[in-house]
Amino acid sequence: MADIIQLLPDHVANQIAAGEVVQRPASVVKELLENAIDADATIIKLIIKDAGKTLVQVIDNGKGMSATDARLSFERHATSKIRSADDLFHLHTKGFRGEALASIAAIAHVELKTKQEHDDVGTVIIIEGSSIVSQEVVVTPKGTSLSVKNLFFNIPARRNFLKSNAVELRHVIDEFHRVALAHPSISFVLYNNGSEVFNLPISNYRQRIVNIFGTKTNEKLVPVEEETEVLKISGFVGKPEFAKKTRGEQYFFVNDRFIKSPYLNHAISSAFEGLLKNGNHPSYFLNLNVDPQTIDINIHPTKTEIKFDDEHTLYALLRSAVKHSLGQFNIAPVLDFERDASLDTPYNFNNKETNTPVIEVDRSFNPFKETYTSGKQTTAFKKQTVNNWDSLYVGLESKGTKTEHDFSEVHFESEETTLSVFSDDNAIEQVQTTYQLHNKYIVSTIKSGMLVIDQHRAHQRVLYEDFLKNLTIKAGVSQQLLFPLELHFSTQEIQIINQLKDDLEHTGFVFLNVTKETVEIVGVPVTVPDSEVSIILEQLISDVENEVPDSHFSTTDLLAKSMAKSLAIKRGQSLLKDEQEHLVNKLFACKEPNVSPTNRTTFVTMSVDELDKKFM
Ligand code: ADP
Ligand code: MG
Repeated sequence: MADIIQLLPDHVANQIAAGEVVQRPASVVKELLENAIDADATIIKLIIKDAGKTLVQVIDNGKGMSATDARLSFERHATSKIRSADDLFHLHTKGFRGEALASIAAIAHVELKTKQEHDDVGTVIIIEGSSIVSQEVVVTPKGTSLSVKNLFFNIPARRNFLKSNAVELRHVIDEFHRVALAHPSISFVLYNNGSEVFNLPISNYRQRIVNIFGTKTNEKLVPVEEETEVLKISGFVGKPEFAKKTRGEQYFFVNDRFIKSPYLNHAISSAFEGLLKNGNHPSYFLNLNVDPQTIDINIHPTKTEIKFDDEHTLYALLRSAVKHSLGQFNIAPVLDFERDASLDTPYNFNNKETNTPVIEVDRSFNPFKETYTSGKQTTAFKKQTVNNWDSLYVGLESKGTKTEHDFSEVHFESEETTLSVFSDDNAIEQVQTTYQLHNKYIVSTIKSGMLVIDQHRAHQRVLYEDFLKNLTIKAGVSQQLLFPLELHFSTQEIQIINQLKDDLEHTGFVFLNVTKETVEIVGVPVTVPDSEVSIILEQLISDVENEVPDSHFSTTDLLAKSMAKSLAIKRGQSLLKDEQEHLVNKLFACKEPNVSPTNRTTFVTMSVDELDKKFM
C-alpha cells in the first residue's frame, strides 16, 4: 500500500498554531506588547482600530532587529530568547516559544518596520498570510513598529466568531491593563480609533494604578511589603470599605507576568476575613518575585496559570503579609462589623415605623399625574424622601395613571391588573391573608389553596417590568438631588457609562457632567435612593462587562435587569403586612408573573386537593 503520511506545508502548520496563540485581537495585543517589553523598550504605543479587528499596531523604542532577524522572526520556533531546553528554567523574558509572530503572520496582513540603534536605515517587511510580499530598506526611528491588519482575513469562520467591538475592546483594555500594571517603569499609550484612551507615563507602582483606575483609587490603597528568602511580595490591597460586589481589580503578577490563581486569591480573601461585607471582594495589585527555577510557566501559551514548587508556603506568606498590612494601617477598628445588611438595601422598612411621626407620607401622591399632564419628565417629583413604600411602585401604579395619560402608541398588558389576589375593599381580610416566612417567602391563601412567593424574585420581576416600560416609552421619572452626586470611575468604566447614558436617562437619571474619571449626577429615578446610586452603577458596569453578547444583547433589557436586581428587596428583609400585599398584587399585575427577569420561578402554589392528599 502506498505511503499516505505527508508533512503539512508551513503555512498550514502556522494557521493551526495560530488557532492556539491568537483567539482574538487581545491575544495579538498581548504578544506584541510582550515582545516590545522583551526588547527593552521604555515607551510603548498601542494603536487599535475597531477594537483591534481592523488594526493592532505596537510601536516601541526597543532594541530593534537586523534585516536578517526581521525576516527570521516570522519563522516558526524562531526566537532570540532561548537556545536550549535548560534556558527554560531561567526565563527572564515574556516570550520564548518563537511562535507568536509566525502565527500572527499566518492569519493577518502584517507590516514590520524595525531598526537597531546603530544602523543608519531599517527594514520594512510586508507579509500576508505567511507569504512575504516585500522586504525593503526604510528610514525609521530606532525600535520596532508592528502592524497587524485584518485579523483572520483568511479564516472567515474565526473572524465571524469575534464578538462585538465593545466586548473585544474590553478584552484589549484588560490585556493592556495587565501589561501596564506589571511595568510601571515603561510608558504606555493606548489609542482607539484615533482617540487617546490611556496615557501612562513612567511612574511608581502606586501612581500607575491611580493613572489606570482613577485618582480616587489613591486613598483606597494599603501597601503590602514582605521579603523572605523564597519570595518577595510588594504591591497594594484595597481597603475593605472600598471592596466591591464584583471581582474587578484583582491582579497577581509573578515575576512581572500576570497570572490567575484561585488558590492565592483565597489566601487574600482569608486575610480579609471578617473585614468585608458579605459577598464583597477585595481588590489587590500584588507582585510576587520568586526564583524562576521554582515556577513552571511552560504551559499553554495563552493560559495565565502558573505552577509553583511550594504553593503552601506561598499561601501562608501571602496571607500573613496582607493581614499584617491591614492591621498596621489600622483598618480593622474603623469597620462596623455588626452592620445590618438590611440597612444597605433601598427599602428601610425597619426604620419606617420609628419614622412615621416625622415623615409625612402622601399616599395619594402620584408623580405620573404631574408628569403626564405637564408633559415633562424631570423634576416632577419634588419629594426627597423615598422611603414611602407606595412611591416605589409609581411606575406600575395601574389605577389612576391610566386615565391620566395616553399610552396609545405603546400598549402594556401590565397596565391592566389582570389578576388581583386581594380585593381592594376588604382591607381587614387583606391583613390576614399574607404571612412572611423566614423573611424570605410570602405565603398567602388563594381560592384553590396556597401560594408561596419568593419575595426577592417577585420584586425583581415587578421592578424589571417597571424599568423596561420606562425605558421603552422614555418616561422614567426623576427626583432632583439637593446636592449633585459626584462618583468616580476608571476610564474603562466611564466608557461603559457613556454607552449606557441615553438609556440611563430614560430611566430617570440626569447627568450633569461625565468627564474622564467622574460622573456628576443631579437626578435619579424616583425608585432609587441616592445612597444606592453608586452600587447600582457598579453592578450595571459589571453586568455589561460580563454580558455574553451572543445572548441577544439588548442594553435596555440588561439595564432593566441589572437595576431590578440591585434594587429588589433582599431575602432576609422583613416586610410589613401591607408591603407584602402590595408586592403580591404588583406581581400579579405583571406581564410574566411566574418568572423573575432571569427566568427563575417566582412563586409556587399548592391546591387544597394536594394538601388533602398529604393528610390522607
Ligand atoms: P518569542 O517572543 O517567543 O521569541 P516571537 O514570535 O514573539 O517569539 O518573536 C520572535 C523573535 O522576534 C523574538 O525572539 C525577538 O528576537 C524578535 N522580536 C519580536 N518582536 C520584537 C520587537 N518588538 N523588538 C525586537 N525584537 C523583536
Ligand atoms: Mg513573543
